[in-house]
Amino acid sequence: MTAPRTACTISVGDELLAGESLDTHGRTIAATLGARGCRVLGHRVVGDDVAAIAAAMREALADADLVIVTGGLGPTLDDVTREALAEVLEDPLVVDVEAVSTLEAWFAGRGRPMPESNRRQVMRPSSAHLLPNPHGTAPGIAASVGGVPIAVLPGPPREMRPMLDLVVETHLAAEPARPVVVVRAVGIGESDAGTRIAEFMRRDAPLPVATTVSDSIVSARIRGRDAGDADEVERLARAVEDAWAPFAFARGEGSLEAAVGSLLAGSGATIATAESCTGGLLAGALTAVPGSSAWFPGSVVTYANRRKVEDLGVSEIDLERDGAVSRSVAVAMAAGARARAGASIGVSTTGIAGPDGGTDAKPVGTVWIGIADDDGTDARCFRFPGERDTVRRRTVLAALQLVRLRLLGASEPLLWERASVS
Ligand code: AMP
Ligand code: MG
Repeated sequence: MTAPRTACTISVGDELLAGESLDTHGRTIAATLGARGCRVLGHRVVGDDVAAIAAAMREALADADLVIVTGGLGPTLDDVTREALAEVLEDPLVVDVEAVSTLEAWFAGRGRPMPESNRRQVMRPSSAHLLPNPHGTAPGIAASVGGVPIAVLPGPPREMRPMLDLVVETHLAAEPARPVVVVRAVGIGESDAGTRIAEFMRRDAPLPVATTVSDSIVSARIRGRDAGDADEVERLARAVEDAWAPFAFARGEGSLEAAVGSLLAGSGATIATAESCTGGLLAGALTAVPGSSAWFPGSVVTYANRRKVEDLGVSEIDLERDGAVSRSVAVAMAAGARARAGASIGVSTTGIAGPDGGTDAKPVGTVWIGIADDDGTDARCFRFPGERDTVRRRTVLAALQLVRLRLLGASEPLLWERASVS
């Protein structure tokens, strides 16, 4: 049996079509198959309707070497994917005796009787076989139509994923993974990032590098054609990291806060935060990193001026003279957070996230980020574009990147920084 080179995927569910919940399985499956050299040719979303699902299955089976369907295997009558598969296979639905005992044991293990409605879940088209589900009651179903394998997987993501791995193992195990590296950077604009790696992005390059921006993070994706490209992918990834230095912070899924955390852990430093416009989001990001208690003593959220004075020792004179969104206050907040927590570094945020509160001199999006450490204090002014949420998220990323650069001894200006503001 040769490994499938192409696949079609189908997501089933009225809630997906209605826009009530997000269809994430399409991209999960495409990425997983793509990594094994199996290209997704098409993806369809269909409602919980036997005829529509069966039609999508037939079309997919005619087009691709492998078909993966998700959703519609629940115990309730609105889930009809198994009926659709039976129709395509022209098979009757039969009870899978082995699965009945597995399902009864599943409920017994939880001290519950098996509801009658769950009996539907152990039905399968007679020529198909069931795929075990260690995380739920719905087994998957695997069949084959004219030599093309079709797998139906349950909708809930934590049940779908392990079963997808099983399908990949069954059909694509022999395919070595295609090497892919994603380099991620923050604080650099996409066009600047693109210019710096223009020679690698040419479409006629053997392995062209592609960039994307999402949530203010620029990514470069370097993908090999097959396992033999691993060294070249690694060489290109390093070249991109060099070109994007010092802004590139991680590969793959690594987060900026995790990168900051490992630098702190490596140097034995600790960081305390004082937050105004981010309201604790910076502390939230830092504490999302496992093991952060080793280097994060805590945060002070000081939204009102009074709290900045009483909790951080910011001077009323500075607040009166410069306003809360100012260099002097950002510096005093960072120094106050550092001193009161006994941390090696203090970092602060104070800004106007909007939609109200902007002035000509300090429009919405104006944010000061302060840093205090052994080398002294510094504050940098930003003008972030975007709505309230975006301004706050960009503030967190900029604060983390400023800390990271400080730990690395770098001081390059970041995207949206206002260099000349005093
Ligand atoms: P079902 O197997 O159709 O009963 O799906 C159960 C649940 O799984 C749905 O309510 C969704 O929360 C989730 N789900 C189903 N299909 C998808 C999908 N394509 N992407 C993400 N989640 C899904
Ligand atoms: Mg459903």
